[in-house]
Amino acid sequence: MVRFAIINTASLRVREGMVFAGGDFGREVTNNFSAIVVQHGKELFLFDSGLGAQVAAQYRQDMPAWQRPFFRYDDPVVPAAVQLAGSGLPPVSRIILSHSHWDHASGLADFPGAEVWVSPEEREVLGHPGPGVGGAWPSQVATAGIKWRSLKFASVPHEGFARSLDLFGDGSVVLVPMFGHTSGSVGMFVTTSAQRRFFFVGDAVWSAAALAEGAGKFWPARVLVDHDADATAAVIGQIRRVRKAHPELVVVPAHDGGVQDRLGYFPKWVR
Ligand SMILES: [Zn+2]
Repeated sequence: MVRFAIINTASLRVREGMVFAGGDFGREVTNNFSAIVVQHGKELFLFDSGLGAQVAAQYRQDMPAWQRPFFRYDDPVVPAAVQLAGSGLPPVSRIILSHSHWDHASGLADFPGAEVWVSPEEREVLGHPGPGVGGAWPSQVATAGIKWRSLKFASVPHEGFARSLDLFGDGSVVLVPMFGHTSGSVGMFVTTSAQRRFFFVGDAVWSAAALAEGAGKFWPARVLVDHDADATAAVIGQIRRVRKAHPELVVVPAHDGGVQDRLGYFPKWVR
């Protein structure tokens, strides 16, 4: 059995123009802070962790005052660990991070028993944590006791990406390096039991509308959060090619509330 659910931990209404270049400033869209929970047989794992129980303290410590007007979240925050508690599901064995930015790693502290898997390139980002939206936060990743593990990609191309990692060896969950937004960002293809296909692209793009237009992020965001603009543009080009080749594939950006609304939220599963 392969299924997933979107655990939305918090949301924020934002102007579309703040999300991508050419977006409409007169139109409001919802920015989600989601974790994706995937169940493969008896194993339960997360792709990103959303906002966690400690996010207020983490934000106070590591979000510089000048960035706060642009990078916020709205209460209430309902952490993934809280939503999963009492669900009767197996414990979360591992968390795979699309990348180590604050709004993806905040919930790590809430799963002390889980291994945290990132690309070797992202380990370097994690080795130099610092405040601000462009890096990994000391309050989230510099704490002792996190069981870091490195994803090992094989030189096996997958959907035009040069390397890949078939997590269970059955093709149902395949990770691909998508370096650009951070130097070690990864994406995840999931094929559910019903043979529906999804591509979780992390923060390579913030919205499906941006993807349709091939647009990058709103420029101040691009400058602040995209580590390598050219590499990010190349990744966006590849996502567009994959989508063209597989029109039935659903691309799920980490923050796109519109796309995620259509799939529904935990405890609703996509099978
Ligand atoms: Zn990010």
